[in-house]
Amino acid sequence: MFNRNNQARTEKKQEKIDAGFMAKHFPEVASIVISMMYTQKGAKSLRRTVNYTPDSYAFFKVACLSNDCVDGGFDMTRIITSMIRSHSEASNGELGCDDSGPRADHSAIVYEVAIQYA
Ligand SMILES: [Zn+2]
Repeated sequence: MFNRNNQARTEKKQEKIDAGFMAKHFPEVASIVISMMYTQKGAKSLRRTVNYTPDSYAFFKVACLSNDCVDGGFDMTRIITSMIRSHSEASNGELGCDDSGPRADHSAIVYEVAIQYA
């Protein structure tokens, strides 16, 4: 089976590996916790927490809940790198899916980011 979704997943995995490790990019960071509440039309809200440690990949893109949303998702890279640059420990906000395509079931998130510094 090789369809568009599988290919996109393979590319995302490669993108993650290419991002490199937290310890290399952000040696001053001890941990990052992203707490998210997903909301999606016609579905129950879903809570998800993602933890990063120095041996995690420095990859801050989170997938959309929509089954066939391949190109979308939530890119937290800019939020997190600017927090690290300013040594900020907490931030929160809302994001909609990056893909503004025709599907009605794209998800959105309300997030909180907590960063601990070494
Ligand atoms: Zn989406």
